[in-house]
Amino acid sequence: MSLIDTHCHLSDPAFDGDREAVLERAWAAGLSAVVEVADTEENWAKARNLAEHPSGRVWWAVGFHPYVADRFEAATITRLKEALRHPRAVAVGEIGLDYFKHCAVPRPRQREVFESLARCGVEEGKPLILHCRESSPDSIEAWTDMLSILDRIFPSSQCRSLKVCHPGESRGPGPNADSVKPFQTLDTGFRRYDGLSERHCPNATAPVPGVAHCFQGTSEIGRRLVDMGFFLGIDAPVTYPKAESLRAVLRGLPLESLVLETDSPYLPPQARRGGRNEPSFLPAVGEAVARDRGVPTETVARATTSNAGRLYNFFSPGVPPFGKGG
Ligand SMILES: [Zn+2]
Repeated sequence: MSLIDTHCHLSDPAFDGDREAVLERAWAAGLSAVVEVADTEENWAKARNLAEHPSGRVWWAVGFHPYVADRFEAATITRLKEALRHPRAVAVGEIGLDYFKHCAVPRPRQREVFESLARCGVEEGKPLILHCRESSPDSIEAWTDMLSILDRIFPSSQCRSLKVCHPGESRGPGPNADSVKPFQTLDTGFRRYDGLSERHCPNATAPVPGVAHCFQGTSEIGRRLVDMGFFLGIDAPVTYPKAESLRAVLRGLPLESLVLETDSPYLPPQARRGGRNEPSFLPAVGEAVARDRGVPTETVARATTSNAGRLYNFFSPGVPPFGKGG
């Protein structure tokens, strides 16, 4: 069984004492890769260094968290594009909106900065890692605002044709049906889907628009994101006894749209609550998803690992081979 932690923060000082041991434990727990997410510009260099880990199993994302949106300036985009040239930089994020009370940046400023960063990701052909936090559990203001921005960036008439296909599956009649190529089986055991970019918005070259990190929205929001081609990042809250409503939402969404993440050092699974989270705890998330859907853990592992490969385009030309040296 192989799993990919699609979102973690191992550059965090919480790992300063034992970062290598944490990575060793991740590989021992069956993880084939981790994606290190830099949330502020100060952390870009640390994340890039980590992605040069000799195991060849670490990748990174160039982010600018809404908490620090007030530090955004025009030159940020130039520097972000420069950072994205690193061969192991696979995404722009996390970026987004945070309407929770501890975020001091005014909402209009957050929206403006998010849109600039998201457009930059699309221009550079990179998927987006979305952070979207509501002011309270029953509010949907942040998602409503984010979806209206995403609708402008990814016009729905074009993006609705984004659909996950499996080997041998026909997309049926449609304007782009002829351009769909089958998955390629690579010797890494992962599959690459070459058709997506051709059916994506003309102004985007990213294979998929991105992922809604730590998704905890409603069924309707989840379906809209999936319709646009976004993946949904599932974290350890799915293991919490009180998270029945989250599990109910996830049961209604296709496994082909889910990826697993730990968000380490945050959000430890139920059995580790109160402590530091780390990528080797990811199997608990996969097991909870599998139990909830009544399918074997292996089914969830295989699907989410394949989804993660597609999300971050691990196999695009110019990207060093997956698992090189490790
Ligand atoms: Zn995060």
